[in-house]
Amino acid sequence: MGAGGPDDEDNRWPPWLKPLLKEGFFVHCKLHADSHKSECNMYCLDCMNGALCSLCLAYHKDHRAIQIRRSSYHDVIRVSEIQKVLDITGVQTYIINSARVVFLNERPQPRPGKGVTNTCEVCDRSLLDSFRFCSLGCKIAGTSNNFEKKKKKKQSAAMVSDSEDSYSSSSHGRQTKDRVQRSFTPSTPPPTSVNYRTAKRRKGIPRRAPMGGLSIEY
Ligand SMILES: [Zn+2]
Ligand SMILES: [Zn+2]
Ligand SMILES: [Zn+2]
Repeated sequence: MGAGGPDDEDNRWPPWLKPLLKEGFFVHCKLHADSHKSECNMYCLDCMNGALCSLCLAYHKDHRAIQIRRSSYHDVIRVSEIQKVLDITGVQTYIINSARVVFLNERPQPRPGKGVTNTCEVCDRSLLDSFRFCSLGCKIAGTSNNFEKKKKKKQSAAMVSDSEDSYSSSSHGRQTKDRVQRSFTPSTPPPTSVNYRTAKRRKGIPRRAPMGGLSIEY
């Protein structure tokens, strides 16, 4: 460490940001393993001590804690929460469950959309025209001193209709996405709907799916 001269790199972002992006969320809390509510989806910006469950959070009463949410198995944060503590300019936002969110990290995209006019400067995911990055992680990478910009000629706002893919994910949110995802991955049937049906038939044995709603916790 320390090689490479004056480094404002560390001061550019709040200290909690990089740890936050590396953290794994939606795992069971080690401290509260026997609690049903022990899924860790909170992060304390003051303590930076990893993913917290709702019970852990009780120890961070006066701290700035932020809630991580899930969309199609990717971590997102509500814009209304993150923008209070971070400048998210340039990062594409999405409307998911009628809330505006940003993605924490880049998501692999099998292949670039056809005729896409604007892509993430870091990972090349297709974006709406006004954005530079697909996620907070890509913004960090793309604005760091070490990042060599592969300047792309942006065909300025030509053919907007071609970025339809991004538009649909942005405006219809996860409902559309979810349906698509499910039809493509029949190997993982949503446990919730099965249990729901069973419970209904048996009348009054409400069962909570152990992992139910894992991706739909809003
Ligand atoms: Zn704390
Ligand atoms: Zn806990
Ligand atoms: Zn990206």
